[in-house]
Amino acid sequence: MTGANPSSASPQHGLTNRLTRWARNLSGKAEDEPVAAERPRRGTAANREVDRRRQLYEDIGDFLFAHDLDLTPINFSIALDYLTGANVGVEKAIRAVLMERGKITNSWVETVAAEQRADEVTPESLAAMLDKVEENLSQFTGLMHESRNSAKDYGAALQEQAKDLAAGQDSEPVLAKLVGLTRSMVEKTRQVESQLRENQKQTQALKSSLETARRAAEHDHLTGLPNRRAFEGVLREELVLAQEKSEALSVAFCDIDHFKAINDTHGHDTGDRVLKFVAGLLAKASNDRCHVARHGGEEFVMLFRGKTAAETCEAVDHVRADLAGRSLVNRTNGERMSRVSFSAGVSNVLAYEDPRAALKAADRALYLAKEHGRNRVYLAAETD
Ligand code: GH3
Ligand code: MG
Ligand code: MG
Repeated sequence: MTGANPSSASPQHGLTNRLTRWARNLSGKAEDEPVAAERPRRGTAANREVDRRRQLYEDIGDFLFAHDLDLTPINFSIALDYLTGANVGVEKAIRAVLMERGKITNSWVETVAAEQRADEVTPESLAAMLDKVEENLSQFTGLMHESRNSAKDYGAALQEQAKDLAAGQDSEPVLAKLVGLTRSMVEKTRQVESQLRENQKQTQALKSSLETARRAAEHDHLTGLPNRRAFEGVLREELVLAQEKSEALSVAFCDIDHFKAINDTHGHDTGDRVLKFVAGLLAKASNDRCHVARHGGEEFVMLFRGKTAAETCEAVDHVRADLAGRSLVNRTNGERMSRVSFSAGVSNVLAYEDPRAALKAADRALYLAKEHGRNRVYLAAETD
């Protein structure tokens, strides 16, 4: 483990900046910064990272022009997902259509993007659920109101008949009226009861959809781990706790080494199983002071409260050594796989202005761990 040097901002962020600038050029607006000004000194790690991003940027352009796709945000995003493998669903769909037809079109991209969105908890689906909750509530209130009114009417009618009985009227017709009244009240109650049962069933179904939506919004369906969104919430909470209790707080980014090669050699399904396996291994460390999440793709994030960054390096290195020491077998054909390992970057969350800066520092340390040979854990220098 060594101290990490400062490196460039995340590739994703750089790419977004470039795309924005390119889009501005297309729309005829002036650039506020020349692209060349960002180019760091040649030969540095940061420079190689910029070259990698530049290559990705060019690949995206080549992909869009090769398929004659319009320059729309959806097409950029699908091309980025395909070329980086950041979204396996998109990657699989594109591979399949390229095998079948050799070409993709604007309308096909729109269909795939819509399918991807269908799996997500969208504002529309949440709004539809809220509408249903509202409808159920007003139905429930209506039923309660109806039931109260008929009880009141029944009470008033009973009193009326009781008065007649007291006044010495012939009891037979009065009793017949009472029986009629009771029958209609029983019928009314039965109706309200069955409507209430229906309402209760719908509320139950709604409760379970809301739970599923909440789970989907916060968990990764492949590994079952909390996702990036959930992690961000946990990070905010743990930061408050660490500050209140004057405890250490450290974060680690762990990224599986050469994972693309695992997919390419053994197929995506085996790749998925490796992801689940690594997730399980990392999750073993989790407890109320250690949170593990899938940050995206083959990258995981761990947050340790009560451990210094150096102690976190040790804990993560322990898991790293455990994984690297295993010899995994491809379940589909029984073949032994080449070693699976991960690299990690660790930073002290409290040493930075905000958690975002700490995450960036951990990401830079991870990048350097990759640069220096992978299968290692690096600690970010706090001067980053
Ligand atoms: P490095 O050591 O530099 O991290 O190399 P790498 O190959 O791990 O990194 P790269 O970013 O080139 O490739 C990541 C791959 O992870 C590409 C993508 O297809 C794959 N991937 C991302 N998410 C999933 C997933 O859910 N399932 C599978 N099977 N593969 C995934
Ligand atoms: Mg990787
Ligand atoms: Mg990665």
